Parts: sequence; structure tokens; C-alpha cells
Amino acid sequence: MAAPLRAPKGTYDVLPGSPFLAVREALLGPAALAGYDYVEAPVFEDTELFARGVGASTDIVTKEMFTFTDRGDRSLTLRPEGTAGVLRAALQAGLQHGQLPVKLRYAGPMFRAERPQAGRFRQFQQVGVEALGSDDPALDAEVVALAASAYAGLGLTGVRALVTSLGDAACRPAYREALTAFLDGLDLDAETRRRAAINPLRVLDDGRPEVQAQLEGAPLMADALCDACRAHHEAVLGHLAALGVAVEPAPRLVRGLDYYTRTTFEFVHGGLGAQSAVGGGGRYDGLSQELGGPPLPGIGWALGVERTLLALEAEGVAAPGAPRLTAFVVPLGAAAKARAVTLVAELRAAGVAADLAYGDRGLKGAMKAADRSGAAYAVVLGDRDLEAGAAPVKDLRTGEQTPVALDALLTHLQEQSP
Ligand code: AMP
Repeated sequence: MAAPLRAPKGTYDVLPGSPFLAVREALLGPAALAGYDYVEAPVFEDTELFARGVGASTDIVTKEMFTFTDRGDRSLTLRPEGTAGVLRAALQAGLQHGQLPVKLRYAGPMFRAERPQAGRFRQFQQVGVEALGSDDPALDAEVVALAASAYAGLGLTGVRALVTSLGDAACRPAYREALTAFLDGLDLDAETRRRAAINPLRVLDDGRPEVQAQLEGAPLMADALCDACRAHHEAVLGHLAALGVAVEPAPRLVRGLDYYTRTTFEFVHGGLGAQSAVGGGGRYDGLSQELGGPPLPGIGWALGVERTLLALEAEGVAAPGAPRLTAFVVPLGAAAKARAVTLVAELRAAGVAADLAYGDRGLKGAMKAADRSGAAYAVVLGDRDLEAGAAPVKDLRTGEQTPVALDALLTHLQEQSP
């Protein structure tokens, strides 16, 4: 016999009973209330979009992309993140010609060929927002605050927001030079030197202790901001304080993508082990031009759904549950079965979540199925009940049984419905 097939390495299945969907939706709830419209872009794009839009020095582009050639010899890549595709879609549709800022939200799978470990998958899910066409610092504050409310709305209390500014085209080049001069004096391996030559800031992001030890005393962007970037950053922090969003300065925060300018942030949680980032984002005022579009400032974030689930688990917070069935109909006999089939259809049409015992089981087996279904009530419908015009409705939590007239069943169950 052939060996049973398993899901590919680094992937997982969302199985019945998982809070996955409810959590994914909850994470975007605050953004929906703030006018961010839902969009979807393709799961694969031209490889060049990510090479240009994510950045040639990033681990994502150099090591982690799932790239393939299609039958027309085009190089395509499974999206490793959402921003490049969403911005490409917005520019392609000309959304920048309408009301600004364009506010968008999205959710879906991302793909990175990383070494799988707890909280790190090769196919994982992110939700994200992007706000395009405004460099108003109040918008930066809104975006950060939306993520903070998303976590708080789920009941999480241990998420910390780390915020910094990465400067812009006016002040970053001089800082880059100062950092490069500093890095030149260090003992770094050839691979790190290559990365530093493409983007020296990425070295600050290097997690290895032997590299971090040498970075003590490295010049920091936060100390080298031009007046405009400093004023922007202070305005963002002022709005966040007024909104009551607690943030921590993080002068060494770089993040793994090259396109960030000015406001850059990460959300971390202490209960996840090595992978502490639950979400992150920032301003990317140069990205549109990088993609061949017009100058168009933007800011956004992406939050990891799996890591949010891990954070809920670490804090012992009950995740929002899937909607439960209200009624489980148990038909006993041929006439009752025929009526049960139409009854559940009527219940569903009336907005009552309902299912029935398929397979013509006896009472015992069918009641076991009712218990396992998680429904609040079982409607036990025998042929004799049909003739009598009433059926017992059993509360599956208390075991209490009440006879309900068949023509009142729908309203009765509607009243019990959440
Ligand atoms: P990034 O686009 O790298 O800033 O990632 C944003 C968020 O997505 C991170 O904070 C994580 O929560 C999540 N994430 C990134 N990579 C992975 C992965 N390989 N597996 C699971 N979650 C991930």
C-alpha cells in the first residue's frame, strides 16, 4: 500500500474547531471600521515585483522566495508578503487618482522558504492594511493604533509596539555613509560584508551575538534624522500618545524589507520563543516609484495570524469561537426523515444554524451525533411526533426536554439563536 500523503514541509491545515478564521477576521475589524476597503491581489506575481518591491538585499529575495517558471517561460513568485502586490494592484487600477488616502485591507497566505520552526511556516497567513497617498503623521498614528486595537480587541495584553524612524532620502544617505564607515572597521564575514554593501542598515538587524557585540556604539538613524523627519516622527509619537497607544523607542529596528522610510514599527510578544514578532510595518514613501509608479507615499502593516494564535495561547486568552449550531435535528423514521430534510432548510433560511443526523441511525447513535455536533438543542422528530404535531426539543447542555408544536418550532429556535 502506498504511504499516506502528508502536507508539505512548513505548511499546516486549518482544521475544524480552529479559531483561525475568527481571529483573522478580528484582526482586521478595527481597520474595517476605519474605512479600509477589502482587496485581493494574486497569490503569484512577476518575480520582478518582489525583486524591486521587497529589496535585493533582503533575506526574503535572496533566499526565501518560491520562484518558478511557467509554461510561457515567465518567472513567477508566490508572494512572500502583501504590500508589493497590493500597491501594484492599486497603481494598475489608478486608485491614486481618486480620493486620497486610498485605504486598503487584505488577508491571505504568504510564502517564504524559511526553515520551519514553532511560529515559522513556509505558507503562513497575514492580514494587512495599506494607506496610500498621504504623508500625514496622523495617518501613521492611525495605522499603528489600528494594530494595537486589533490585538487589544482579542484580549491580548502582552503585545509591545516598538517604533522608530528610518529617515528619508534627505537624511538616510549621510547616515548610511557613517554606518558604512563604522562597519568597515568591524570583523565581519564575507557574506555580511556583501549584504552591508547593498544595504548597511541590514547588518543592525543581524541576530547573531558575535555581530551584535560589535555593533555597540554603531551610529543610529534616530540620532541622524533631518529636521523634517524628526518633526514627522515627533508628530506621530504625539498623536499616538493622545490616542493612548503605548509605544517603545527602538532605534535599532530595521525590519527585513528594504522599502521602509520614516515611521517603522514592529509588534512583539514575549510568549512566543524565538519568533517574537507578531506583526510589523512602516512607511514606504519611495516604493511606488520603485515599482514604476508616480511618487505616492504610503504606510501599512502586516500581522501574522499564526503568531497571534500563539500569543493568545501563551496568555491563556480564549480565542473567539466559530459560530455554533443552534439546532440538530434527529429524524426517527422515514416520514420524519423527509420532514427533517426540509425543516433544516427552513431553519437555515430563517438564519438559524441547523444540521441533521444523516445516515438513518437509531436514536442512540443519532443523539451521540447531536452531542458531538456542539449544537445547543436537539430536535427529536419521530413519525408519531409528526402525526401529533409536536416534537421534543432537548437542551443539550442541561438535558432538559420541552415539547414544541411543529408550527412554532421555527420561531422557538429563532428565539434561542445567538
Ligand atoms: P514581515 O512581513 O516579515 O514583517 O512579517 C509580518 C508578520 O508576519 C510577522 O510579524 C509575523 O507575525 C508574520 N510572519 C512572517 N514570516 C512568517 C513565517 N514564516 N511564518 C509565520 N508567520 C510569519
